[in-house]
Amino acid sequence: MPSAPPALSRRIALAALLAATPLAAQEYPFGSTADTVFDIIRTDDPTAFVCLSYEGRTTRQMWDKRIDGESDLNVFLFQAHFSDGPPVDIILNPEFGSEGEARAEAMRYVRGLGQLPLVFRQGIRQFGVHKGDKGFHGGPGKIFMYHDRATRRIEQAHLEESILHESVHASLDRDWRQSPQWRAAQAKDPGFLTRYAAEHPEGEDLAETALFAYALLRYPGRIPPVDSAAIVARVPARIAVVAEILASGPVSAPAPKPPESCGS
Ligand SMILES: [Zn+2]
Repeated sequence: MPSAPPALSRRIALAALLAATPLAAQEYPFGSTADTVFDIIRTDDPTAFVCLSYEGRTTRQMWDKRIDGESDLNVFLFQAHFSDGPPVDIILNPEFGSEGEARAEAMRYVRGLGQLPLVFRQGIRQFGVHKGDKGFHGGPGKIFMYHDRATRRIEQAHLEESILHESVHASLDRDWRQSPQWRAAQAKDPGFLTRYAAEHPEGEDLAETALFAYALLRYPGRIPPVDSAAIVARVPARIAVVAEILASGPVSAPAPKPPESCGS
């Protein structure tokens, strides 16, 4: 067999190199939701949050990355009430010390929860807050956040974006992240939008992509035109699925009247 001409063998070598390049080393339009520079949900955007009622001390299980485990804690329990749907339990680690300190901490998150469309919020059964500086965690029905990390995200005006990302884990992952529609969209689109999504295609692609798709669908103009075009070019099929998700749930649901003691 004669060997391939030099130009062709260079092309073969290049193709082999590309095939061998791990996903993480390829170029992505963005790193992750957590380091996005776009202010997609603004702090002063309207919110459905109404008030926060104190429900007393009670025992709840809290997942905590600092100990890499779950423990039963005598938490401060609040309920955040919304005008467009059911309340969400907000639980504060007893390390917050007093009802007043726990309430002040809880208040930092509830406007952002009220800014979520109901379909993103309705699966959150429990929103927990610890002290410390760990990455936020969202799983089916539950979100956990950390005081110091939240302070930094507030300084960046990006706590709302983090809340949306975790709400996808809490409310939508179970039904959508491995759904035939999402898998088909992943297969059809040219690539992943963020490096984090590419590194975790099953666990993070939906939560990562949903934020950018939500921005284009609900707040066109908040992402600059050149970046919007890059997003549309990269994940058109996924954006269509997020549009389907947004249209799939109720815009509002019965909201029980908050107790007299409910405050803000
Ligand atoms: Zn995530």
